[in-house]
Amino acid sequence: MFDPAAFCLERKAAELIERARRFGQTALAPRAARHDRDATFPIESFRDMHPEGLLAICVPEADGGLGASYRTYCLAAAELGRYCGATALSWNMHVCSTLWTGALADELMMTVEERAEHNERRRLHYKRIVGDGAIYSQPFSEGGAAAAGTVAFGTEARPVEGGFRVSGKKIFASLSGAADYYGILCTERGQGGQASRRNTLYLAIPANAEGVSVVGDWDPLGMRATVSRTLLLKDVFVPEDEMLMPRGVYFRAATCWPHMFLTLSPTYMGLGQAAYDFTVRYLRGELPGTPPIKRRMYPTKQIAVADMHVTLEQTKALWFQAISEARANPTKEQVLRAYAAQYTVMENANALAAKAIRTCGGQAMLKNLSLERIYRDSRCGSLMLPWTAEICLDRIGRESLYEAGETDE
Ligand SMILES: Cc1cc2nc3c(=O)[nH]c(=O)nc-3n(C[C@H](O)[C@H](O)[C@H](O)COP(=O)(O)OP(=O)(O)OC[C@H]3O[C@@H](n4cnc5c(N)ncnc54)[C@H](O)[C@@H]3O)c2cc1C
Repeated sequence: MFDPAAFCLERKAAELIERARRFGQTALAPRAARHDRDATFPIESFRDMHPEGLLAICVPEADGGLGASYRTYCLAAAELGRYCGATALSWNMHVCSTLWTGALADELMMTVEERAEHNERRRLHYKRIVGDGAIYSQPFSEGGAAAAGTVAFGTEARPVEGGFRVSGKKIFASLSGAADYYGILCTERGQGGQASRRNTLYLAIPANAEGVSVVGDWDPLGMRATVSRTLLLKDVFVPEDEMLMPRGVYFRAATCWPHMFLTLSPTYMGLGQAAYDFTVRYLRGELPGTPPIKRRMYPTKQIAVADMHVTLEQTKALWFQAISEARANPTKEQVLRAYAAQYTVMENANALAAKAIRTCGGQAMLKNLSLERIYRDSRCGSLMLPWTAEICLDRIGRESLYEAGETDE
């Protein structure tokens, strides 16, 4: 999708992105339709990711991982999204647990004590991923305003001897029933304390801990293979060592590193590319599984493809810039650009898929081909909190017109 020479990617990044593309073509593409149809989790693909190093793509090299940067991860994830949106989105949930604790945390201000504590604890998680192929997920959403970033998480952690007792409910918990650890956000609350986002804890809860259950069914429009059911936590004991970040550091990270919330977009960047790729191959009569009938000679098709190409190039250019400039404490313009990139990718992925269906025609949207799945999966992008398409527009408008703290009074 992003030619290493044209986009000036370093050799290591190019190699990892190429590895992800090959994996997408060989492991994900052949399994995607079945898991989509049955709404089952592609656990075998996650098992295959382990020897490829892909589960540990963002684990620092010193801890046995591939040490990919934020940008390299995004570009690799887009390649997976091209071949199976749901697997790429699930992979995102797993990899983000290593990004929050890894490259991102390395850029945050921490006291010497916090840094030492953090490095020691994350080693435990990385060891599980690198050595055992452990899979992490990140169920943050609760069905209230917390996932949008406005109020404290309703899931609460009560400090007890040696750890915490955690109770609450997470909705849309992708990888539920498949992950080995749920990386949850919750509010630490002592006796009589006020709930505050500043007291957010980021904890890894073993899937087999007493009090953890997965409930409800999962039969959505798209992204069916993410199996995002409801996670219930009932007085679960979580040892202190399962803290993925020291106290107070998640709040700092979410405030200083807003581009982390852009990490849901690579999957959809890949889906947009997939819709375009499908259209070109279909109109050329080269799509496997379809008769070799060419439809490319009609001017209406050519205009439609040109239009898709322009949309795709615009989307890629803005997105590449946004993921390239991600860092701690970005400027206001960089944050506005990140919202714009998220909005553009999420909306354009589905617009490209819709255009692809209109252009290719009825036979192209039959369930034996990937386009209708791409269309359904891509529809989900603009719903992903905390940066839904609506929230991105809200923030772009407000933050363009008001400086921090400014009011009209
Ligand atoms: C396929 C899929 C997989 C997912 N996987 C995960 C996962 O692994 N982990 C996880 O934590 N979540 C996950 N989610 C959940 C997702 O991030 C959202 O939390 C979920 O879609 C919210 O649905 P809702 O109906 O409760 O939204 P609501 O909170 O009811 O919001 C509805 C809409 O209102 C708007 N809105 C909401 N709050 C505000 C606000 N404060 N200001 C302005 N507008 C607002 C938004 O545009 C939003 O789309 C997943 C979602 C999907 C579709």
